[in-house]
Amino acid sequence: MFLIFCPHCREYRSEEEFHYQGEAHLVRPQDPRSCSDEEWGNYLYFRINPRGLHKEMWSHSMGCGRFFNVVRNTETYEIESTYLLEENSKDQKSKEIKSGNRTT
Ligand SMILES: [Zn+2]
Repeated sequence: MFLIFCPHCREYRSEEEFHYQGEAHLVRPQDPRSCSDEEWGNYLYFRINPRGLHKEMWSHSMGCGRFFNVVRNTETYEIESTYLLEENSKDQKSKEIKSGNRTT
């Protein structure tokens, strides 16, 4: 078991309280009826699957219930940082809330 820092609760909590919600920073087409099938299909189904750092959306579903973003290394599972959805990048104030993978 390891701990994840929730940027809303501002504390480390057990990984069991969190759920992965998918790739972060996806932008829904403004008007789905006017985009092509390919554009809509890309939005719905195609995701990057990087080896290394990946920005993901998670929820603190068994805690505050709110969503936030995580930068996680897909090779090591190590969480580099967490940050609020309204923050566009891990480079902002999230440096102070670096999660690491604390164990209990
Ligand atoms: Zn929380």
